[in-house]
Amino acid sequence: MYLGTSTVTLYKRLLLVLIASGLIGWLFGIFWPAIAISSVALLIWHYHHLVQLVHWLWQSKSINPPQASGTWGRIYDGLYHLLNKQRKKQKQLRHRIRQFRDGAEALPDAAVVLSTDFIIEWSNKKAQNLLGVVCPNDVGQRVDNLIRNPEFSQVLTNYEFDTPFHIDSPMKEDTRLELRMMLYGADQYLMIARDVSKLNRLETMRRDFVANVSHELKTPLTVMRGYVEMIQQTGDDFDEHWMNVFGTIEGQVTRMDRLVEQLLILSKVENNSTYDDTHLVNLSELVEGLIKDSQWLNQEKGHTITSEIAPNIFIFGLDTELKSACSNLISNAIAYTPDSGNIGVSLQFIKQSNGVGVKFSVKDDGTGIKPEHINRITERFYRIDKSRSRNTGGSGLGLAIVKHVLQHHNAELVINSQWGQGSEFSIVFASSSVEQVNQ
Ligand code: ADP
Repeated sequence: MYLGTSTVTLYKRLLLVLIASGLIGWLFGIFWPAIAISSVALLIWHYHHLVQLVHWLWQSKSINPPQASGTWGRIYDGLYHLLNKQRKKQKQLRHRIRQFRDGAEALPDAAVVLSTDFIIEWSNKKAQNLLGVVCPNDVGQRVDNLIRNPEFSQVLTNYEFDTPFHIDSPMKEDTRLELRMMLYGADQYLMIARDVSKLNRLETMRRDFVANVSHELKTPLTVMRGYVEMIQQTGDDFDEHWMNVFGTIEGQVTRMDRLVEQLLILSKVENNSTYDDTHLVNLSELVEGLIKDSQWLNQEKGHTITSEIAPNIFIFGLDTELKSACSNLISNAIAYTPDSGNIGVSLQFIKQSNGVGVKFSVKDDGTGIKPEHINRITERFYRIDKSRSRNTGGSGLGLAIVKHVLQHHNAELVINSQWGQGSEFSIVFASSSVEQVNQ
């Protein structure tokens, strides 16, 4: 309850004391001594309470303030009220902290709270099993002093926290961890470590399965194709109906063969996920070769293919993969542009914020792609018009291969397309994967 005392009341009381003591003094003929005595008494009373207050604040263990009446009673009540408010807030805060910790303990992942200097401030129990960080024993230590891993140290040094990164668990053998660092509060990081070994194993199994199945399918398909071609060559023994049937079989076997071929390329590209910065590929020559090869692909469609290729552009990477990525974009432009279209292929250096990059682009004036499909066309088996794509021999894997190749060549695929007007597919290589010569 608020029991305030206004300044006017305080002065009124002082005046009352002085008037009363002055009146008594005047009756006894000691006016000024009476005033002096009452003033000193008042001072002593205040000093006494001041001493009591200081004692209570600094020495007393009791949470209840001393008892007093009048002004000092109001002061003590106010202090008591403040203290109570503070205590309630602290209780709420403690409750919140306990809730956060319970939540963090319930997480299936390891959680470590770090300062901006990567000093450990808190960790949950899972962090002990997966990372070897024990709270409170390791609080105050730099996290990379405990998790000794070159990849981890590099990520911390370069502040590369935009994407999750992976390390082997320092505690458990054969355990791969996915780590994420998030800014938390104003000056803290929350590091979350998740065991992804099972996922990794499943992913490896999936890749192996696709690679093995594709590989196993290759031989029977070759045998089938051989027999069909043999039958077609001895065509006189069959009437037209059967020749049509064999023609269809041959067409389907060719489609399946191409699909298996693409699947094999994709699983090879997927399995080889490391960036090779030792081999230099002459991309200018590679693209020139692809343009020459595309002429026979273009025989049926009769497009006009123009090119603008800057000489001597060298890229760090694998030539087989780069060839596959670039040729997919050229063959798509040929396949998805209606007859007698215009296709422009270009390879140029481009200025980037941190150096000189390279842009390879294939532009066509074909049908273009509706905006809702653009984000999805690099997914495996995603085809906009399935029947049309099938007719063009498309497997829906071409752009997925391109995307995977680019992932380990420091490059990105940029698609600009206007429905009804045409498309431009570009591969933009970062300056770090381009051999920097005097351009
Ligand atoms: P596919 O093997 O079927 O060609 P891709 O992954 O290479 O598969 O391409 C996915 C889809 O993107 C294609 O089915 C096609 O619909 C569309 N596409 C690719 N390139 C072009 C292009 N230049 N113009 C229009 N559509 C295209």
